[in-house]
Amino acid sequence: MEFLSVVPFSIMTGFVAVFGLLVGSFSNVCIYRMPKRESVVFPASHCTACNSPVRAYDNIPVISYLLLGGKCRSCGVKISPMYPAIELIIGLLITLAFLRSGLSVEFAVTATVSAVLVIITVIDFQHRIIPDRITLPGIIFGFAAGFYLEGWRDSLIGFFLGGGLFYLIAVLSRGGMGGGDIKFIAAAGALVGWQKVLLIIFIGALAGSVVGIALMVLKGGTRKSMIPFGPFLALGTLAVLYYGDDLVRYYLSAMQQPF
Ligand SMILES: [Zn+2]
Repeated sequence: MEFLSVVPFSIMTGFVAVFGLLVGSFSNVCIYRMPKRESVVFPASHCTACNSPVRAYDNIPVISYLLLGGKCRSCGVKISPMYPAIELIIGLLITLAFLRSGLSVEFAVTATVSAVLVIITVIDFQHRIIPDRITLPGIIFGFAAGFYLEGWRDSLIGFFLGGGLFYLIAVLSRGGMGGGDIKFIAAAGALVGWQKVLLIIFIGALAGSVVGIALMVLKGGTRKSMIPFGPFLALGTLAVLYYGDDLVRYYLSAMQQPF
């Protein structure tokens, strides 16, 4: 890592940004293929309409979309602006993670988890599932990173507290909570520890309620038009990942103020 210290910070940031866009591009492949249980590696990218392979020079994140005017080069079918949007969001998150932590374990963890959270959000909105292919490896990753960053005790308690609470809700509400949500929050608990997993649940429930009530008022929806919970948990996890320590410190110091 020594040689990296001679690379100017701005150039390093540029490299990280490009890397983030490429991670975003691969995340699009995961979003499209994982719910169909397809491999995310083979075959190489191809147009979903005409099946012609996407050439390397047409596969540059964001830029290719703009150069091609949002259309497939072979058949001219419209490509969803979701693709470049997801590349941009993940690119920005990974750059932000680098600006916060530099090249470190924290950066690697935050960058990986950020991309995974965006993937989960889109898949849950589109298919109402959080695939086991993400949550089960996520639990192992959560423990590995959590043991290192938060300590084994906080990580273990976080896993059982988060997973246990959601399991209890699932039992009491008779199916109001999906299995994917339970595995997700267990993985998140292992990653961030027990204090911050409570914060994730709080933020997720709050954001979910606000949006849910707004939709009911605007569209006259009922409980049947329930929105998935995964995206709000992902939002809570993202907030805690970037600002969790500040929020916990703020909360603890506020508790110690005499009223
Ligand atoms: Zn095509």
